[in-house]
Amino acid sequence: MSGLTKRSMVVSNKKMSFWEKIYLPAILGGMWITFGHLFKKKTTIRYPEEKREFSEIYRGRHVLKRDDEGRERCTACGLCAVACPAEAITMVASERQPGEENLYREEKYASTYEINMLRCIFCGLCEEACPKEAIFLTKEIVKAGYERDEFIYGKDLLVEPADPAKRIDVTKRQTKEVLEFKKDKNQKHNVH
Ligand code: SF4
Ligand code: SF4
Repeated sequence: MSGLTKRSMVVSNKKMSFWEKIYLPAILGGMWITFGHLFKKKTTIRYPEEKREFSEIYRGRHVLKRDDEGRERCTACGLCAVACPAEAITMVASERQPGEENLYREEKYASTYEINMLRCIFCGLCEEACPKEAIFLTKEIVKAGYERDEFIYGKDLLVEPADPAKRIDVTKRQTKEVLEFKKDKNQKHNVH
């Protein structure tokens, strides 16, 4: 017979005291613990009226960044899609046409770029894989919705606004070393 079985037999054979038989002290003890929780700081919040403040490096919904001149940084290289373990990213690459130099940073750009937020696990691997610093996660969360289609985020939702005042600051997501490296304009990567 195992030690555990022996022990349970000892417990079940033990005679209950008077107080144990009437259960009252155990019930009062349980109620005392419940009452004590009424005065503790609540861990739940009344979302969406109240919003929790997230860390600057929280991995929430993505942004596709523009460069200093307002051009889309993404060159549709596809590395983010390859790195994505959830296969949540799809894109269509297109060639930049003459006259579009002010819209797209390089000769190739993503005419379609979509992230399926229902598949995404917010691991951040797309951010790490991107050689153009085009995609970053942000501290914004994906809004709830009723239809599956609402969770396919296209460029209309992903590309940041062209207005410099409305750009999304991602500097806090980058290490000091990366920010120092980016100041080196001798690196082709940092020209814009
Ligand atoms: S955060 Fe992870 S799962 Fe989501 S799109 Fe990026 S790589 Fe894919
Ligand atoms: S977001 Fe970055 S990694 Fe993904 S396609 Fe664009 S440039 Fe390439």
